[in-house]
Amino acid sequence: MTDPFRDADAEDALRQVYEAAGPYLSSLADRPVHDPRSLPLLDELWRPAHGGGLPERGEGSVVVLERLLRIGAAAATHSAGPRFFHFIIGGATPAALAADWAAALFDQNAAFRASSKFATMTETIALAWLRELFGLPGAFGGALVASATFANVTGLAAATHWWGEQHGVDVAADGLAGLPRMPVLSGGYVHASDRKALQLLGHGRDAVEVFVRDGVGRVDLPALESRLRLLNAPAVLIASAGEVNAGDFDPLEELADVAERHGAWLHVDGAFGVFAALSPRTAHLVHGMERADSIAGDAHKWLNVPYESGFAFLRDPARLPAAFGMPGAAYLPGKRSALPASAGPDYALLGPESSRRARSLPIWATLAAYGRDGYRAMVERHLDLAQRLRRMVDEAPELELLAEVPLNIVCFRVRPAGVPEETLDDLNRRLGAALLDDGRVHAGTTVYGGRVALRPAIVNWRTTEADIDLLVDVVRKLIPTVTG
Ligand SMILES: *Cc1c(COP(=O)(O)O)cnc(C)c1O
Repeated sequence: MTDPFRDADAEDALRQVYEAAGPYLSSLADRPVHDPRSLPLLDELWRPAHGGGLPERGEGSVVVLERLLRIGAAAATHSAGPRFFHFIIGGATPAALAADWAAALFDQNAAFRASSKFATMTETIALAWLRELFGLPGAFGGALVASATFANVTGLAAATHWWGEQHGVDVAADGLAGLPRMPVLSGGYVHASDRKALQLLGHGRDAVEVFVRDGVGRVDLPALESRLRLLNAPAVLIASAGEVNAGDFDPLEELADVAERHGAWLHVDGAFGVFAALSPRTAHLVHGMERADSIAGDAHKWLNVPYESGFAFLRDPARLPAAFGMPGAAYLPGKRSALPASAGPDYALLGPESSRRARSLPIWATLAAYGRDGYRAMVERHLDLAQRLRRMVDEAPELELLAEVPLNIVCFRVRPAGVPEETLDDLNRRLGAALLDDGRVHAGTTVYGGRVALRPAIVNWRTTEADIDLLVDVVRKLIPTVTG
């Protein structure tokens, strides 16, 4: 095989994927999250039989897809299944998964209306529906981006542009040279990806001044506000709507008041926490979010669409073309055409990417397929599962709950009777490693209030009570193997 033009029709390769999909998906409910015995298969990706280098002569799609599917079905991390509680990783709903295949099928470039009116329209609708899902006012607009990190970049780039304007500078054109350092203030929950966004934007990750009132990082509002008063200059506040260790929230309403009193920009990182808005049981956690200037969120977490998928919302969406427009390239639509037209704006001018896939398709499809009710039911099921896990931890004599459970994360550690406090961190680290090696369930460790802890996060639409029970069972059974 020397040329894609001579390859069999793509239908054969697609049929292989389709035929592998059914058995793979139906295996997810029962199989381990990963099987360490499958790892030697990864060497086959190098094609050692052929020396491992770039193939001179290709083998054609059918042979290659057979290998990829065989290796992937065995050696992939089966994080799309119900027992992956590590990090915060959602699965893919049936509608989202199928529509993601369709996005690859149509291979749209969702950059401009001129490259795809179809993808532009689905993005406009997906954004409008997400805005409604989270109860944000109609003025909010934004763009789909690859992840919450890129959504933080988007929100904080708009903030930077606003801040430059306060100093009489268009930073999109002229950069930061000659300006003072942009003041950025937050509580201790600020996520590493907000710092990464600041480092990308030229402020540096250490630009954040952190104000905490306790060992887990709750924000010290009076200290933050005195700093703002002292600064007496335009500043950016970062609020966390959903902190990753225990699922706690910064007080958004209070932070919005502070921002308002001092004319500061309020950016809310709500990667998974924005979904608290879906249930009357947790909606109070995001009250005040609607007063933010920018909001970052993830669709590949709790919306359960495939990677990569995030979104950024701005209270004043006109700030996006100002920060991300690309005037001056004669073959591209100019800044002017970023203004809304019937299908929507030219989204490449509203965010960090230029060419971009139609990641709106899975979002559009999953929201159309399940609606607000379906998502509320899923979120509430996860809230119930988190409470079930909290109770089981409370009742197990060798487990210790370390935090309240406001949302979908349960922060706890193992603490067997008679084990001295100073050895517990080490013990919990070993237990975390043993859990990952075991493979039946995945959960990672963190350091919470100075103590090493497990922090399973429940975000997968497939997860059931039996999966939670298995997590507790596996953790308890592993304790003797790490205490010996
Ligand atoms: C996951 C997460 C991020 C980063 O999201 P990516 O999708 O990995 O870029 C940022 N902030 C918070 C609070 C998160 O949970």
